[in-house]
Amino acid sequence: MKGWIVKKPLTIEREDISRGENNEENLTKVKITKCLLTISDVLTYNGTNEQTDFALGSYGTGIVSESSDSTLTPGTHVYVRPYIPCNECNNCQNGAYGSCSDMKVAGVDYDGFLRDFTNVKPSDVFQLPESVSDLKALFIDYISLAVSIVDKLHVEKGDYVSVVGANYFGIILSQILIYYQAVPILCTQHEDSFKMAKDSGIYYVLGDEDNWQKEVLSITGGRMTSHVVYMANSDIPIVKAFSLASYGAKVIYTGESNKNASFSFHQAVKKQLEIVCVNNGYDNTEAAINLLANDAVDISRLKINCVSDNDVKTVLDDMNKTLLEKDFVHETVVETI
Ligand SMILES: [Zn+2]
Repeated sequence: MKGWIVKKPLTIEREDISRGENNEENLTKVKITKCLLTISDVLTYNGTNEQTDFALGSYGTGIVSESSDSTLTPGTHVYVRPYIPCNECNNCQNGAYGSCSDMKVAGVDYDGFLRDFTNVKPSDVFQLPESVSDLKALFIDYISLAVSIVDKLHVEKGDYVSVVGANYFGIILSQILIYYQAVPILCTQHEDSFKMAKDSGIYYVLGDEDNWQKEVLSITGGRMTSHVVYMANSDIPIVKAFSLASYGAKVIYTGESNKNASFSFHQAVKKQLEIVCVNNGYDNTEAAINLLANDAVDISRLKINCVSDNDVKTVLDDMNKTLLEKDFVHETVVETI
């Protein structure tokens, strides 16, 4: 098995990764067909995450190659769940793996999906309905994380939710909120994200030229929002999210990267906000696949760059350059070989 390994900052090589293989019995062998590169991969590639020697890529789709599980016949299109619970914490010991205190993530803590084949437990392999393409399936984890957020917020029909950061996850989360009959107010500093969000069916999108606090005040009839979601990997200061919250509001801190940030809690303390961190959708993979099959999410307006396996180094260099210049980078799909 071969995968793209970060050897040192800005150096990636395609090499054998059989050494780290899981040797348990009854594993399912999956040929990876597509892998999604995200900001998290760029932060590993450029050395910010200070991790090396494992394959990048937290999200991958593929085709079953070998399996002893009768439901997973060779040729079946699948999504592989990118998490391994620690099996040691109190929650894992009680079988609540989705609430693991030290969840390991593919491409961050162990070899990810920027590779040719992987051997995984059948319970982490999810068959994809025909209507869910490989490209859509790469966003399953964004949707399962969005479902976790909706659960934590306890949103009800007609509730306004400020979503601060219109990266692809912010746009997908807003669509899921609409599906659950809430009303997202999506905030972005980027013109292209503004347009993509509008084209993706989000009604309230606030851009760089809008006064977000004033607009939210007007939309909510002076109440502000009692639900706020802040994208940790956006380039927007979190104080802007606090400014959209009503007194005692619930603020979700989330994101698909482990980018570090420092900020002042001053406004949050003043308003007695309830800050909740949500970092995975481990238990919601099947729900996410159903939502995709029911067209609850439309990714057709996202500008998704697709490249071949041989262009991995070039595309990571490009993504790193964009991140340095704009503090913001969109996902790229790699067709693996
Ligand atoms: Zn655990």
